[in-house]
Amino acid sequence: MKIRAAVLRNVGAAMPYAQTRPLSVEEVDLAPPGAGEVLVKVGAAGLCHSDLSVINGDRPRPMPMALGHEAAGVVEALGEGVTDLERGDHVVMVFVPSCGHCPSCAEGRPALCEPAAVANAAGTLLSGARRLSQGGAPINHLLGCAAFAEYATVSRRSLVKVDRELPLAEAALFGCAVLTGVGAVVNTAQVRVGASTAVVGLGGVGLAAVLGARAAGARRIVAVDLSDTKLELAMSLGATDAFNAGSADCVERVREATKGGVEYAFELAGSVRAFETAYKITRRGGTTVTAGLPPPAATFGLSPLNLVAEERTVKGSYIGTCVPSRDIPRYVDLYRQGKLAVDRLMTGTLTLDEINRGFDLLHEGKAVRQVVLLS
Ligand code: ZN
Ligand code: ZN
Repeated sequence: MKIRAAVLRNVGAAMPYAQTRPLSVEEVDLAPPGAGEVLVKVGAAGLCHSDLSVINGDRPRPMPMALGHEAAGVVEALGEGVTDLERGDHVVMVFVPSCGHCPSCAEGRPALCEPAAVANAAGTLLSGARRLSQGGAPINHLLGCAAFAEYATVSRRSLVKVDRELPLAEAALFGCAVLTGVGAVVNTAQVRVGASTAVVGLGGVGLAAVLGARAAGARRIVAVDLSDTKLELAMSLGATDAFNAGSADCVERVREATKGGVEYAFELAGSVRAFETAYKITRRGGTTVTAGLPPPAATFGLSPLNLVAEERTVKGSYIGTCVPSRDIPRYVDLYRQGKLAVDRLMTGTLTLDEINRGFDLLHEGKAVRQVVLLS
């Protein structure tokens, strides 16, 4: 079938993207779902920093590629062998499919699924297929989703069914920002009631972590960012303290206010500087979690003496150490009970044709989550 999709053909375009238009909204061919796959009519897709990192070249991916990985939609058609979904079901896309039987999946850690990592690096669906093309030339799928499009053919294993009453624009955010941010707090760090926490970097994922820390019952939630506007938003979402990372004594001020640092600090900005800040504001015996994704060549220095003598833990967290079919319904329930204000992360809606301007706003720090409405 012919569909409209946002395709990236070259990385590293100059900004503003509203003028250089790195994403071109084109008519492309979408093949029907193969065995184990599903055709989804996309309802809404969020603009995430990971898409921006592909556009600007920080995260190298095979070109050309159809972007978009945080989305929700309605099941339109089922491929052979898909028996547990039906036409009309509402689904959230998850940007790491899980094969269900590799060593990581067998250990209950589907976020680390090995065939999924291979497929995502290659720009294919979990099956190894590409279902997008133009004039017979294949187009790669970003993270098995390629969701800035009217329709997407995806693996069944990239989908989690959700309640039809949940608006699709809100449902979309659960697939990346919420799964990653809330999961870093409740799954990776396993923050307990009464714990002290800090979140460095207040994009969609960081603000979702603030919501997660509040839902988990943290007594102290320190927000750190370069933007006063985002610090204010974090305070309105449940942060207890706010510090601007631009001030030279930010680390000292947090350590003083928290009497030596917090038990759990989260780096969610994707920068080495933010990671160093998170490490320095973690208290003795504490845990520093990073879920940001800096460019591949980035490294950070760590004092082994400090790690040992203060019995510190440093943990990576990918897609919130999630089990998507367990976690997304849980987080949706919390949202509906008013305990996880996911709708507050949404700062605007766009049409597909406005997508380049949307990435300018994201880059400029003027938006948290903007959602492209597709149907
Ligand atoms: Zn994302
Ligand atoms: Zn697997």
